[in-house]
Amino acid sequence: MAAVATPQQLADLVQQQQADEAAALEEQTAEEADGGAGGALAGLVAVALAAWVAAFGALAVIGGGLMLARLLAGLRADVDRAASGLGRRSRRVLEGALADAAGMGARHAVDFARRASGDDIGVPGVDVPEAALDAARGLTDVVTEQLRLAARLLAPRTISGSGWRGVVLALAAAKRAATLVRQTVAWAVHRAVNDGAAQVAQQLGARGLWVAEPDACVRCLAYAGHLTDRDGHFPGGLSMDPHSRSTLKAAIEGPPLHPACRCRLVPWMPDWGTGPGSLPELLRDQAWRSIAAGRGRPTESHAARRRAARALLARRGLSARVRRQATATAAGRS
Ligand SMILES: [Zn+2]
Repeated sequence: MAAVATPQQLADLVQQQQADEAAALEEQTAEEADGGAGGALAGLVAVALAAWVAAFGALAVIGGGLMLARLLAGLRADVDRAASGLGRRSRRVLEGALADAAGMGARHAVDFARRASGDDIGVPGVDVPEAALDAARGLTDVVTEQLRLAARLLAPRTISGSGWRGVVLALAAAKRAATLVRQTVAWAVHRAVNDGAAQVAQQLGARGLWVAEPDACVRCLAYAGHLTDRDGHFPGGLSMDPHSRSTLKAAIEGPPLHPACRCRLVPWMPDWGTGPGSLPELLRDQAWRSIAAGRGRPTESHAARRRAARALLARRGLSARVRRQATATAAGRS
């Protein structure tokens, strides 16, 4: 029997070491799936700008006729070349990575359980979750549709009305194909990692414990330290911000809660405790500190964070420091 780790050591294991490993797998998969398409598509704005100025003299001038038709045909070909093979490549790469991701999740969950219990536990085989596979299989169509939209936007009839602004919009639509690939890879890899961990939890007869990122969004922070019910589900629609709470949302199996979510699920046995000094409580305290500090994600509004801080103040058991900080955040002073 090995030494049992402290709650802080367990939190560090999941939130740092294991999170870094999962992030590296995500990054590697995303790079391979992208295959340089994202950079090539982004570079087309400069190409188009040079071509436009060369053809019409200035961005404000809307050329027409053969000149415009030729310029746009060239740009459509540039888009095709930049995104060449993206749909099929990203599907193949992601499908291939999901077994590694689920296996990593299982290994992480077993490492965690060993250190939480001191017991020697074997790593079981796990399946790739269907939802992650579906996301991978859908990539070819997602990319095709996005590129088709970009091609439509690069038609002479559209651009003769909108001018240069329309070209920028069309190229942004093309670039979005690569963005969607990255988002899908991120979501599916983390879904598979967490599902691998959930399968281990189930085989151990354990609950699933939600380990949020320390600086997660108001919705994810509401799950920090939460345990699954007997069916392996978390309630849907939780949020630290009362405005984004929903009692109508269906129960969920675990993280990721959204495409940019990097929260983790770990197994938690009933006799490992949930009271003072336990990991679930440590995670909840971490979430409360984050809400009190009021530093939101770039995607979050200050208002959401202020409301969350105000809601936090209604809770019992806040430390004096957290209460002071939350008061300042709720008043918009942080
Ligand atoms: Zn999250």
